[in-house]
Amino acid sequence: MSVKENLDAVTERIKDASIKAGRNPEDITLIAVSKTKPVELIKEAVAQGVTHFGENRPQEIVEKYSQIDGVKWHLIGQLQKNKVRHIIDKVELIHSVDSLSLAEEIQKRASVIDKVQDILIQVNISGEETKSGVAKEEVINLCRQISCFSHIRIKGLMTISVKDYGENENIALFKELWNISREIEKLNIPNVSMKELSMGMTHDFEEAILAGATMVRIGTAVFGGR
Ligand SMILES: *Cc1c(COP(=O)(O)O)cnc(C)c1O
Repeated sequence: MSVKENLDAVTERIKDASIKAGRNPEDITLIAVSKTKPVELIKEAVAQGVTHFGENRPQEIVEKYSQIDGVKWHLIGQLQKNKVRHIIDKVELIHSVDSLSLAEEIQKRASVIDKVQDILIQVNISGEETKSGVAKEEVINLCRQISCFSHIRIKGLMTISVKDYGENENIALFKELWNISREIEKLNIPNVSMKELSMGMTHDFEEAILAGATMVRIGTAVFGGR
């Protein structure tokens, strides 16, 4: 299957899931996850109108950034502090902020280039020890702390579901993130918006859309297996 055919199928599935959820498909942003995939394939997606691309390694953003014009890069994987300075001028949104110290580094590097960096807070809903993300009990506190930073804007939350979860478990997990975001919204913390919920990958994006995702991060279904 070509990238075009894959994208047609994914777009249709996003539309169907939105309708099932009583939502407008236009309120859901497809982030095509291009990690490990060559620039030629990314350009095929660009030709189909895709503008948002997700990478989980900073180095890959650095390499691809100069080769493709006019697209928006999303850092969706774990970010080490010493890598922030390499990507700070290149990324639209960092989805994986889960500690105050990482936010401090982003604040520092963003202020050097006079940029206000949009971020999401990654939440570890399931509590699996192996997983990145702040514990759900600590999300509000972290949002309050980061809200004081002049060069960071929190735009919402991100999560990853659990590998072996079935449909209903995924929906429950994603709804939990949605609930946390509504709770934070009610607090009206300055500089903190809860507009975006980044959740759902190839195997669970339909459940995420049902639970309120505004951004779905889809790799395999767009670009094929890795
Ligand atoms: C790789 C990755 C995705 C996309 O995964 P697929 O199953 O290929 O759609 C989404 N989110 C994150 C954080 C990833 O690392």
